[in-house]
Amino acid sequence: MKRQLIAIVGLGKIAVDQHVPAILGNPAFELAAIVSQRRATVADLPSFDSLEALFAAMPEVEVVAFCTPPAGRFEATRTALRAGRQVLIEKPPAATLGEITELAAIAERAGRVLFATWHSRFNPAVAEARRRLAGQRISRLRVDWREDVRRWHPGQAWIWQPGGFGVFDPGINALSIVTEIMPEPLFVAAAQLDVPANRQTPIGAEISFATADPAPGTDLSAVFDWRKQGEQSWTIEVATAAGETLTLTEGGARLAVNGTPVIEAGSHEYPMIYERFATLLAEGRSEVDIRPLQLVADAFLVGERRATAPFDD
Ligand code: NAP
Repeated sequence: MKRQLIAIVGLGKIAVDQHVPAILGNPAFELAAIVSQRRATVADLPSFDSLEALFAAMPEVEVVAFCTPPAGRFEATRTALRAGRQVLIEKPPAATLGEITELAAIAERAGRVLFATWHSRFNPAVAEARRRLAGQRISRLRVDWREDVRRWHPGQAWIWQPGGFGVFDPGINALSIVTEIMPEPLFVAAAQLDVPANRQTPIGAEISFATADPAPGTDLSAVFDWRKQGEQSWTIEVATAAGETLTLTEGGARLAVNGTPVIEAGSHEYPMIYERFATLLAEGRSEVDIRPLQLVADAFLVGERRATAPFDD
């Protein structure tokens, strides 16, 4: 098979930690260039400060992976699609639902592949949870996503700016799992957003969910908190009306059923993302699921805003 020449845009934490090794490890792709506003690079690859400069110098690069923050991704992704490139975008796929809906339409009109990735879904434990919950009635959902923002997002000013998602930047990973495994659609019933007095985006949030046809006593909720010191928690617990409790821990890497471990596989999210991307490219098919973003947007729409103490990195 011909190797696809691919460029990474935005050489930040996730690009360096995950995209570069995943691409280098996949024979379907050849990492050919970097686009970096700082002209940063890896492995002596050519680095350009804009997409336009990349396309002018290396028209043979057919594929682009965007590892930039969500705000600003619309314009860049549109540019790449209109230039005839196939595109992968990090989560969250865009700053707004309108942007991602339009990007999917642009990709379709251009006959190009757009792959909006949700990395947490690429865990075997998530697929197993989905299989076990199919056709079940759910009595309880509890998402508990608590981490230390200083530890995981040091110096990332964009997360606190409009379009930066705040605590929903990691929280949307939980929602990408929930929308994948729940047997019926969820929507936001109510939300509370804790926003530091000196910031634009929430540092903590709580959401109550509803479904169209809940069993009496059904309790569906999520807590996201960026102020957690010590032990971190990325847990989703789902109880069925039939009496089974599924617990996904470590961000979807492990699954236990009624307390007994079922899957303890380490996570290979990014190699699997690039395997899926190669398949989508071979089939000429896009994959864009907006449901996790829709839940976040609805939490912002109905959320009660609580001003909390100023927060500095
Ligand atoms: P980051 O470390 O801040 O890197 C983002 C990079 O994008 C920057 O280094 C910069 O690279 C480029 N960039 C372009 N415009 C920018 C702007 N206006 N502000 C800041 N950077 C800009 O962020 P990250 O953690 O890699 O996250 C990037 C995306 O990946 C986000 O959507 C995030 O949700 C997602 N993600 C992150 C993680 C994680 O663990 N960090 C995990 C999964 C997904 P250049 O200077 O090279 O242009």
